[in-house]
Amino acid sequence: MTYSTGKLIEEIFHSRNRFLVIAGPCAVESLDQMLSAAEEMVAMGIPVLRGEIFKPRTNPDSFQGVGDEGLEILREVKKKTGISVVTEVMDADDLENVMEVADIIQVGSRNSQNFSLLKKVGRIDKPVLLKRGFGNTVEEFIQSSRYISNQGNERVILVERGIRTFENSLRFTLDVGSVPILKEQVKHPVLVDPSHPAGESRFVEPLALAAAAAGADGLMIEVHPSPDQAKSDSKQQLTYGQFEHLMQKLRLMMPVLDKTIIGQEIPESV
Ligand code: PEP
Ligand code: MN
Repeated sequence: MTYSTGKLIEEIFHSRNRFLVIAGPCAVESLDQMLSAAEEMVAMGIPVLRGEIFKPRTNPDSFQGVGDEGLEILREVKKKTGISVVTEVMDADDLENVMEVADIIQVGSRNSQNFSLLKKVGRIDKPVLLKRGFGNTVEEFIQSSRYISNQGNERVILVERGIRTFENSLRFTLDVGSVPILKEQVKHPVLVDPSHPAGESRFVEPLALAAAAAGADGLMIEVHPSPDQAKSDSKQQLTYGQFEHLMQKLRLMMPVLDKTIIGQEIPESV
């Protein structure tokens, strides 16, 4: 079952006790790769596919994303599978084109304090997924979200994705404590991305479960048809099997948290 965008938006923003899982590759690489991921996600009841077409890379010589051709890939994948899509806009000049395809617009960690971009996405009629700057406090993160909502766009999803601390045993330090604080201070849904702080696939599941236990409204997870061949973040992307294993654990956790996972509900009449 796939969700219409309208229904999906309503679930994230208006229903308490719902848990949203967004999953898919770090980057859009090819039509085959994205179609495989989308079909797998639809089969697993995951309502939103992720995949970046513009990659914010620290190293300018690293893969920078497929760019505009990725929009055609996402368009095709949506047409074939009906899944909703989230992708990042790094430059306001790309916003108009990306909005034609994406159901949710992502603003990444490195642009979390790009106030002119935040104001621009504050004036669009699409949900915005804002990631925490890895050098930002919770307070600064909230202020960034206000740059969007002050312009009229109240449909903001906050994503904790790990911060830089003195601890460098993982790629970033996941600030699980930010979840209950954000939940107390803002009305926006709070998701956690366990993939970027984990840096390696075997650490993704424990961080994801900790985030759910801390009260996150959902997760954003990197999953790739063949992580070894991924053009970016290959070590941290989950295989379909690893992702299914995590989903099984999440399903078991949900009754304790008094939540249900969007897209995974048991049909009312069997
Ligand atoms: C991403 O979600 O692919 C990404 C680049 O994340 P972040 O902006 O949190 O580094
Ligand atoms: Mn990534």
